[in-house]
Amino acid sequence: MSTVIELTDVTRSYPGDVHALRGVSLRVDEGELAAVVGPSGSGKSTLLQIVGTLDRASSGGVHVAGHDVGTLSDAALSTLRAGHIGFVFQHFHLSAGLSAVDNVAEGLLYAGVPLRERRVRAREALERVRLAHRFDHRPHQLSGGEKQRVAIARAVVGRPALLLADEPTGALDTASGQVVMELLHELHREGTTVVVITHDNEIAASLPRRIRMRDGQIVSDS
Ligand code: ADP
Repeated sequence: MSTVIELTDVTRSYPGDVHALRGVSLRVDEGELAAVVGPSGSGKSTLLQIVGTLDRASSGGVHVAGHDVGTLSDAALSTLRAGHIGFVFQHFHLSAGLSAVDNVAEGLLYAGVPLRERRVRAREALERVRLAHRFDHRPHQLSGGEKQRVAIARAVVGRPALLLADEPTGALDTASGQVVMELLHELHREGTTVVVITHDNEIAASLPRRIRMRDGQIVSDS
C-alpha cells in the first residue's frame, strides 16, 4: 500500500500571529476514505489546501503522491494537481455560462486533452454521477445536489488518485447530501483515496477514519 499524503510537522502561519496549523503530522495511504472534522477555525480548510498544493506550508514536510511538494515550482505543482488531485468545494465553483458537459470538460483543461476528447470523457463522467439527462443544462438550471454531482464529475474526470472535498454537503439538503456521500463512497470503492472535511457528525461517523482537529492541531485520529 503506498502513501498518498504524508505531512511532517507542518505549520501554516499568517501575518498578525495567526497560526492556522501548528505542527500537523499525518499519513494517508492509498485507498483510504477519511473525514477531517473539528470546529470552525480549527485549520481544516488550511490543511486541505496544503495537501491539495493550493497553498504552501510555512514549515514542515509535505509529500503528495510521492512528490516532495516543498521542492516543486508552481508550474510543477499545477502539473501534479492536474494529474493526481481532484477538488470538490461546498459552493460547487462551477462556471455559470457553461453547460454541465463543458464544466466537467474543464477538469481536463490542464491535462493536455483535445476538446473533442474532453467532451467525450466529460459525458462519461456525468453518466457515472447519473446526470446523463443533464448534459446541456447550465448551473442555474440545476438543483444544488445536481450541481455538486457535476462538480464531482469534474473532479474525477481525470481519474485522480486523490479526491479532496471541503464540506461537499454543506450547502445541500439531507437527501442531496446523501446522494453526494454515496458517490464519494462509490469512488472510494473504485480505488480513489478520498479526504472529506465535514461539520456533519453523522457523515463523519459513517466514514472509516476520522481525523479531528482543534486549534491547528490533530487532537485525535481514529
Ligand atoms: P476551518 O476550515 O477549520 O474553519 P481554516 O483553515 O479556514 O479553518 O482557518 C484556520 C485559521 O486560520 C482561522 O483562524 C482563520 O481565520 C485563519 N486563516 C485562514 N486563512 C487565512 C488567511 N488567508 N489569512 C489570515 N488568516 C487565515
